[in-house]
Amino acid sequence: MSEETLFTKIINGDIPAEIVYEDEHCFAIRDIAPKAPTHLLVIPRKPIPRLVDASSEDKALLGHLMLAVGDIAKQAGVDEAFRVVINNGAGVGQTVFHLHLHILGNKAFSEDSLGF
Ligand code: 5GP
Repeated sequence: MSEETLFTKIINGDIPAEIVYEDEHCFAIRDIAPKAPTHLLVIPRKPIPRLVDASSEDKALLGHLMLAVGDIAKQAGVDEAFRVVINNGAGVGQTVFHLHLHILGNKAFSEDSLGF
């Protein structure tokens, strides 16, 4: 039996978290250690470990996640300016190996750089 990821435990209610959005395919929570005043994680229910582990059968799910990000950003009131981050691999800081998209808002990021 495969180990449940942290995010699967959260959506199953085994670990507490504030769920700010959920639908059939994904859910969103507040990051426990926010890097911006608004820092949400958008997580597919399907536990794909990394973005590179997604396959063509996940095409609709990946599109769904992008549309959900827009809806969740609107709901959070940051849709005029927010950044979306996906960490792929420990080398860039991925710590939870269950695909997730960070929504970072209400923070003054540099306008001409990806540095943050
Ligand atoms: P990664 O570094 O893998 O891209 O992002 C994982 C994120 O999950 C981190 O920003 C971290 O703060 C967040 N995180 C880790 N454990 C928990 C937890 O138990 N609850 C919540 N809400 N966020 C968590």
